[in-house]
Amino acid sequence: MGLKKKNIIIVMIVLILGLLSSLVYFKLYDKEETINLSYNQFIEKMKAGQVKTVYLVDDPKLKGILKNGMSFATDHPRTENFKEILLINNVGVEENKGNLMLTNIISFIGFIIAFGAMGIFLSRQSSKQTSREFSKMSNMEAVDQGDIKVTFANVAGNHEAKENIMDLVDFLRNPEKYAKYGARIPRGVILYGPPGTGKTLLAKALAGEANVPFFAVSGSDFVQIYAGLGAGRIRSLFKKAREKGKCVIFIDEIDALGKKRDGLNGNDETDRTLNALLTEMSGFHENEGIIVIAATNRLDTLDEALLRPGRFDRQIEVGLPDVNARHKILKLYGKTKPLGKNIDLERIAHETVYFSGAQLENLMNESAILAAKESAEYIDKAHIDKAFYTVIAGEEKKDRSTISEKDREITAYHEAGHALMTKLIAPLNKVTKVTIIPSTKGAGGFSMNIPPDRMYRTKKDMIDNIKIALAGRVAEEIIFGEENITTGASNDIEKATEIIVSMIKKFGMNKKVGLLNYDVLQGIRGAGIDAEIIKEARRVMEDLYQQTKNMVYTHIEQLSILAKELLKKETLNEEDIDQLIKQSKLYK
Ligand code: ADP
Ligand code: ZN
Repeated sequence: MGLKKKNIIIVMIVLILGLLSSLVYFKLYDKEETINLSYNQFIEKMKAGQVKTVYLVDDPKLKGILKNGMSFATDHPRTENFKEILLINNVGVEENKGNLMLTNIISFIGFIIAFGAMGIFLSRQSSKQTSREFSKMSNMEAVDQGDIKVTFANVAGNHEAKENIMDLVDFLRNPEKYAKYGARIPRGVILYGPPGTGKTLLAKALAGEANVPFFAVSGSDFVQIYAGLGAGRIRSLFKKAREKGKCVIFIDEIDALGKKRDGLNGNDETDRTLNALLTEMSGFHENEGIIVIAATNRLDTLDEALLRPGRFDRQIEVGLPDVNARHKILKLYGKTKPLGKNIDLERIAHETVYFSGAQLENLMNESAILAAKESAEYIDKAHIDKAFYTVIAGEEKKDRSTISEKDREITAYHEAGHALMTKLIAPLNKVTKVTIIPSTKGAGGFSMNIPPDRMYRTKKDMIDNIKIALAGRVAEEIIFGEENITTGASNDIEKATEIIVSMIKKFGMNKKVGLLNYDVLQGIRGAGIDAEIIKEARRVMEDLYQQTKNMVYTHIEQLSILAKELLKKETLNEEDIDQLIKQSKLYK
């Protein structure tokens, strides 16, 4: 993988050229004094009539000028009728580049020349990956968080993680105080949990509250193919941080450089980068006032060397928000929005099990955008419902002309099957929404099945979930015949298989196979065990499929009623479903 020495020298020269010109670029760019606005702030300013001009050019950021002369940048919504919204709000729209871009263009030229040269050089090396690495390196800047101040007030829910991080504020503010008592400041903290749960936000809040600079990098940026580059980057990152004195360094996706070393796929380069990180961390002077916060989705995949005392010895879980936390997060983002009277945030909190903080923020934001598009007075329930779909399934597919009536019908019966089964066997689950509106992500429709918030799942819960998953295919088979079943059930089958296999292998829930964990047995298990598990899984699956089929058969009338209503209305909510099922006499 490594290049020959001569080549490395050429690469270095080109790289230095590129970096120099990018420096010029950033310097010029700075002069414009652009303020960064969140999209919500931008909408507010627009509504308040403070936005003069917006440049609709092909730029990842949306830029423009406020009436007070300041330039601003915000996220580009890239919606179809954005221009119309701007015009309705009396904002000037310029679609050619305009002079705002001029300085950028000039400084860009050097940048492009250097990178062009490098690109040619690299393509000669016939390695696409190489050039990708290079562009990645040039983008990798530890960012100082600048004006945007994040504080703990911006973090809702996450009570325990928040308290834990709050403890660190005083360490950062007064390291001397702790030095006096000979106490050692924690150097590294790992925040672990699913994406979008606020790990980055917490790290930023720590820096914001302690009023120290915030440096952010991602572990995946360090995975370089050039020997020594990753380690070098680590050293320069820490050097830069030290120059600032106290600060917070945030390393996202720490697993990319700190994966468990299992000897099999050991990679010298990641090892070197990881070692550089550990060396830097142990090289902190006591109580220097630098805290490294790392984030990962999974703690168990990390190299133990990272977790030793003096390194990342504090590990804090940042989990998905529970119903109270969801309510708090919704309130936080609802505060700045005109919510209609028919909106009950507590109820929405109940309906959003498994949503992350980021998804909740997204839900509120999408609703606001929808309301803004219609110039509605308030954000109402319909906006939230529509946004709900967007958040979990991606944008609604606009062009429905390509979908045949037959496909719609199949989807309707399939989704009705899921919904009916949920209502029949798991009345505590919520079916907050069933729809046959296809999404751009490819799903034909979906049935939102939300189990009650609980710590453990019972064997019955798991079997119920398998039956609910199978009910889509069952409905297709019963209504359209076995030869007309579709590929629409593939996700369901995957889910059902996963549950069955984990019941057998992990949870000791299968009498025949017994109370053993088959992952632990790996290595000592002889021939035949895998085959036995597969055989048993298949038997259980067939049995459950038959049970599901019998159940759907006896309630075929309700199935039809639901499916027909779906074809008519496309989307049904929980009340609709309950009502429709009650109407039918067969339901006991
Ligand atoms: P992570 O780093 O865990 O992937 P982020 O911190 O990047 O998640 O979260 C993304 C966004 O989601 C945040 O900028 C914020 O808008 C929102 N968010 C997530 N969790 C919370 C929370 N607990 N309180 C408020 N906002 C949150
Ligand atoms: Zn399905």
